[in-house]
Amino acid sequence: MMEYKKNDVLTVTIEDIGNDGEGIGKVDGFALFVKDAVIGDTVSVKIMKAKKNYAYAKLEKVLTPSPFRVQPKCAFHKQCGGCQIQAMSYERQLQFKQDKIKGNLIRIGKFDEAFVDSVMEPIVGMEEPFHYRNKAQFPVGTGKDGNPVTGFFAGRTHTIIENTDCALGVLENKEILETVLEYMKQQGVSAYNEETGKGLVRHVLIRKGFTSGQIMVCLVINGKRLSDGSFLPKQEKLLEALKNIQGMTSISVSINKERTNVIMGKEVHTLWGSDTIEDSIGIREGEDFAKTGKAVSFHISPLSFYQVNPYQTEKLYSLALSYAGLTGKETVWDLYCGIGTISLFLAQKAKQVYGVEIIPQAIEDAKKNAENNDITNAEFFVGKAEEVLPAFYEKNEGDSAMRHPDVIVVDPPRKGCDEVCLNTMLKMQPERIVYVSCDSATLARDLRILCDGGYEIKKVRGVDQFGMTVHVETVVLLSRNRT
Ligand code: SAH
Repeated sequence: MMEYKKNDVLTVTIEDIGNDGEGIGKVDGFALFVKDAVIGDTVSVKIMKAKKNYAYAKLEKVLTPSPFRVQPKCAFHKQCGGCQIQAMSYERQLQFKQDKIKGNLIRIGKFDEAFVDSVMEPIVGMEEPFHYRNKAQFPVGTGKDGNPVTGFFAGRTHTIIENTDCALGVLENKEILETVLEYMKQQGVSAYNEETGKGLVRHVLIRKGFTSGQIMVCLVINGKRLSDGSFLPKQEKLLEALKNIQGMTSISVSINKERTNVIMGKEVHTLWGSDTIEDSIGIREGEDFAKTGKAVSFHISPLSFYQVNPYQTEKLYSLALSYAGLTGKETVWDLYCGIGTISLFLAQKAKQVYGVEIIPQAIEDAKKNAENNDITNAEFFVGKAEEVLPAFYEKNEGDSAMRHPDVIVVDPPRKGCDEVCLNTMLKMQPERIVYVSCDSATLARDLRILCDGGYEIKKVRGVDQFGMTVHVETVVLLSRNRT
């Protein structure tokens, strides 16, 4: 086999897609990983980093474009890194995500390919895969001319690419960001500098309730309360300008003085309007996920997790609900419940729901959400799933009904479930487990543990919550083996 080295220029046809969306091609058995190349392209590339059998190469020129290549909407998609596959047709994106889930189940979960094919249902795509995000967090920095700027960090760097008009976000983002920047400029308010740890405004969080039209703006600041009780210099100027924007409901600051890349600080102070915004989610059923059930309304705080794609969230939750197979008699746990979104869907069809979530504010929201929707059969616990669940199990020794719920739903963050949590789930022996996952690699790892512990995968279905990106949500139904 030929050996290649840095700066070699090669022509290659892209035949595969890596998990991060990169194009993969081979020259004489030597694999090349090429960011921004689309499967089916023939491209000229320059090697950046060479190993023995493979190399990372930079796309120099598309020689013959792939039939799957499309004109990207956003001029910054390559630098930003948020939309890794915007240059790929949406149809092909969905196929990639279906294959990604399948590949992880086979490779990491060690499930047989024929078996995986037999349980996988077709991925649920979006009708309109742009402007779907209800939440955006824009970093604020200082431009070359000394004025405050906002946009996106380029790739994994700390350089901000100016852009107030993200193709995935709501149209209001632009006006809100321009208002904040104008205020900062007028009042001489500094932007935070990650290198020095100095400067005031770090991020602008914007959230919109798609059904309510309500908008929340939260400025993350590296500062504390000023002597006059405000948090920002000439705060009223900013509030006056922001509250004129249609839908504005909540304006707050979050204090973050830590030198980390965690965006939000733990403390939030409302400066104007309500502490939360409202949104509602309806149930969808059938092949085309037509709207059917009564909508549940939610209050959302700046710190609470809330699914970012409202169109697809309805489909995701409806799918999780249908996999749960509830008749009204069941006891159900909803682990990693956030503000109780899935819990309150479940509660309408179950006897009793228990939710567990680590963020106290989210649990406060969950309790209020239950109350506002007249739901009385949902109880919520603050804490780690891997601590709350075992403690509950131990405490109820001798009470079989409490120890053995009918269904457990889990929806963990990307790192998946803690092993203690999985093992306790196995001890609790629910009839069904519904696993909602935003990372099919950790999902596959956890499914192996659950299957070795006596469960069987019945159904797997991807839901595209994140069009244009390489991320995909997956819902899995497992049922207990009766042997
Ligand atoms: N089911 C919810 C939230 C899913 S996101 C929804 O669809 O809206 C995952 C949630 O898990 C987040 O709210 C996060 O705060 C919470 N979380 C993270 N680690 C946790 C842990 N160890 N135990 C319980 N909750 C956790």
